[in-house]
Amino acid sequence: MRHKGNPCHWAKFFWNAFIPTRIAFFLWNAVFNAISVDTNIQQRGISLASKCTCCSNPNTESLDHLLFQGEVGTIIWHFFSKALNLSTYWDMPSLFANWLGKINLSNQFGMVTTAIAALTLWNI
Ligand SMILES: [Zn+2]
Repeated sequence: MRHKGNPCHWAKFFWNAFIPTRIAFFLWNAVFNAISVDTNIQQRGISLASKCTCCSNPNTESLDHLLFQGEVGTIIWHFFSKALNLSTYWDMPSLFANWLGKINLSNQFGMVTTAIAALTLWNI
């Protein structure tokens, strides 16, 4: 008999009809911190100097920095948070808690805001 794992309540935000599959895979990897940013490469024992390319004053390139906390991410997430009257968030767990956790995917607003979050993460 096949054992089913616990349901993943947030997976429905990525694996659905209005998020392209390649973006869903990217988001899945981002959630599990499996994107090859400098800090993840360093954690595998490879020595390298880390320097992001998203800020005028370069910082260490981590996934949270790249997607949320760098200059580009900060500007983009501030814009959408204000435009959609949603809380601001600065890392993946707070994105789920503050934004996606409050969205109802059965209406158009929910689908649009989910697509905005996914496409924003993909394009940063
Ligand atoms: Zn940066």
